Amino acid sequence: MSKILVISETRDGELRNVSFEAIAAAKQISADKEIVGIVIGDDNLDALANELIYYGADRAVTITHENLKNYTSEGYGQAILAVVKEESPDGIVMGHTSIGKDLTPKLASKLETGLVSDVVGIETDEENVIFSRPIYSGKAFEKKIITDGISFITIRSNNIPALERDESRTGKVETKEVDIADLRIIVKDVIRKASEGVDLSEANVIVAGGRGVKSADGFKLLYELADTLGGAVGASRGACDAAYCDYSLQIGQTGKVVTPDLYIAVGISGAIQHLAGMSNSKVIVAINKDPEANIFNIADYGIVGDLFEVIPMLEEEFKKI
Ligand code: FAD
Repeated sequence: MSKILVISETRDGELRNVSFEAIAAAKQISADKEIVGIVIGDDNLDALANELIYYGADRAVTITHENLKNYTSEGYGQAILAVVKEESPDGIVMGHTSIGKDLTPKLASKLETGLVSDVVGIETDEENVIFSRPIYSGKAFEKKIITDGISFITIRSNNIPALERDESRTGKVETKEVDIADLRIIVKDVIRKASEGVDLSEANVIVAGGRGVKSADGFKLLYELADTLGGAVGASRGACDAAYCDYSLQIGQTGKVVTPDLYIAVGISGAIQHLAGMSNSKVIVAINKDPEANIFNIADYGIVGDLFEVIPMLEEEFKKI
């Protein structure tokens, strides 16, 4: 039977949401093909494999090895190549995450196959599956079809909704032990910085601050608002360069690309490099004291005013809801 592999991703022992979105994407590519979810790690992956089935996979394969506890492109690459050779899929889908971006070009080149990256939409006509992906920093979209052979497809988070979780779904879980040979690097442990709440790349609400926020103290206002809205805090490079916040929060051409349901840009001018990372957000609200700021050109709602007055007022109103 023809099939599509979905390579899932974990963080801190949990599946990342983009893994479930990748299953939904695989279903959109073909409702008839078997969807096989892949989980990679060192041990105890059955519960995660079952989650993939609850979210729509027909079957799940766990690939275990002591050297696969943490991601390395060599280790994961060898594991995926082994399963691709055994399963001979028609396509391989994964998230357009830092891991997906690192792995898929290498594997596509090894297998001499194609790669359609950063997909935000999938449609079908009578003959083709058509993939949409942003180009020119999100200013335009191109549509691609795959004309030959299998291909890797990476999907951008928060664009293709995951299917409803359904615990009554059943499917076979298989364990595959692979021989991971001669790794040049083994990552023994990953020590994360203390979490500051919701993961930016998967957040539905982002409150992002720019140079207008003026200080690290000013960012505390944004954290409070993000907390009230159950969202994450992001930033412009201007704010990161000024050391108001960590570079891990940077959104834009050289930062993270995000597509939340709601993006609140606070004291951000709207430079093209910033827009490249957030212009596909579903609803954009801009708060800026300069009515001519470029950010208002892409905002759905604009508030012209001093952020230090506007944010506390918004916060007070949101708290009432
Ligand atoms: P500014 O442009 O200084 O804007 C600050 C805004 O705050 C102004 O509009 C001002 O009116 C407003 N403001 C000030 N005080 C208040 C107040 N009290 N209340 C309300 N509003 C107020 N930038 C990114 O963001 N992400 C990237 O990935 C990125 N990559 C880059 C890559 C390259 C190669 C280059 C050259 C640049 C890149 N930049 C990136 C930088 C980008 O060009 C801008 O310099 C940066 O986005 C500006 O940040 P900002 O909007 O916070 O600051």
